Amino acid sequence: MTDRVVVVGAGHAAGQFVARLRAEKYEGEIVVFGEEPVVPYQRPPLSKAYLAGEVDLDRVLLRKEDFYTEQNVDIRTNTKVTSIDTAAATVTAQGQTLEYSHLVLATGAQVRKISLPGADLDGVHYVRNLADVDGLRPALTDGARLAVVGGGYIGLEVAAVAAKAGVKVTVLEAQDRILKRVATEAIAQHLTQVHESHGVDVRTGVQVEAFLGDGKVSGVQLGGGETLDVDAILVGIGVVPCTDLAEAAGLAVDDGIVVDNRCATADPRVWAIGDCTKHPSRIYDRALRLESVHNAMTQAKVAAANISGKEAAYDEVPWFWSDQYDLKLQIAGLADGHDNTVVRGNPEDGSFTVFALKGNTVLAADSINAMRDHMECRKLAGAAKTVDPARLADTEIALKEV
Ligand code: FAD
Repeated sequence: MTDRVVVVGAGHAAGQFVARLRAEKYEGEIVVFGEEPVVPYQRPPLSKAYLAGEVDLDRVLLRKEDFYTEQNVDIRTNTKVTSIDTAAATVTAQGQTLEYSHLVLATGAQVRKISLPGADLDGVHYVRNLADVDGLRPALTDGARLAVVGGGYIGLEVAAVAAKAGVKVTVLEAQDRILKRVATEAIAQHLTQVHESHGVDVRTGVQVEAFLGDGKVSGVQLGGGETLDVDAILVGIGVVPCTDLAEAAGLAVDDGIVVDNRCATADPRVWAIGDCTKHPSRIYDRALRLESVHNAMTQAKVAAANISGKEAAYDEVPWFWSDQYDLKLQIAGLADGHDNTVVRGNPEDGSFTVFALKGNTVLAADSINAMRDHMECRKLAGAAKTVDPARLADTEIALKEV
């Protein structure tokens, strides 16, 4: 039987997975198919330092190209897998069929496209891959006008880079505040003020009705009749997991490829890792789909160990980060369902943490420029124990003691 691990997708999870698989002493063949033209790279800098032109492609690559040659990993870039046959244990790419002993789906996510009149005009941008950023960067010139549709992390990070470059930025958020889905209100308020202090016009509760222009975008039509003149638009309204291949192959999909805590699907030869998965969370007692580097890296490690015959289970507190101006926002846990918040530290000092609690149990904590707190926050969010909110707020008491 073939001893070959085939990976579909050559992103962050895939790049880490192949390195871990070799570290686990797997000696069989490894073939990675990636539809992008480059070997695996890190996406976080795309809306931060890479967009700002502060780092180049070399610094963004997860590992240098030589690594894959040295590790005998056959990475086939510019190659899209078009079908999977789980009964025959094969994948098809560019008309050729390849057998696998294990298949790892690391197909990631793709941007959610906006459906509006004018959505296809030139000058309407998204940020998911290197090509997107290379297309957006030239629009960020001093004095240019950029509308950012969506006040989530990606939109706000792009807004920060653009504002620093002298671009006149307007953020258009449909909800009543930015970061509604992903951060506490106190953090959203703080970030709104910081953006405004850099000249960004943050508008919430706004309906975007159409993008205007003749060939190239020149305006945004807002609900209520107002028109905004723009030179470019960045749309950041979330992502959808890439699950079409899995679904067509008969694997279970539910807003993500369904895996267990070993990253295994119901087919014993097929695994899935990274943004494309829906996996069980012991901590939150439900299935989660996460879009984070930590999730991609950890699932890669777990799948590599299991495929190598060890036993590993994914049981992690989700965490994320976002860099905007000189702020480092770090999020430990998931705040959905919280009914109470506690602030530790003073937002005016620029370094503080907001805990999201359900009753007296910490679900999540968002920290701004408070790295030491963040490490303890991850433990608190994973512990599911009751805490005394007054002690959480008391900066005289080390979080470790809480
Ligand atoms: P991806 O990195 O998306 O890789 C999947 C790859 O599979 C893609 O290259 C895709 O083209 C390829 N593919 C899909 N289908 C096929 C097919 N059929 N055949 C061949 N190839 C295929 N996370 C954080 O934790 N912190 C951050 O600050 C942060 N910032 C981010 C900023 C940006 C701009 C973006 C886009 C993401 C950011 N993230 C951040 C999220 C993080 O980058 C993702 O969670 C991570 O990249 C997930 O890795 P992945 O391998 O699962 O998916």
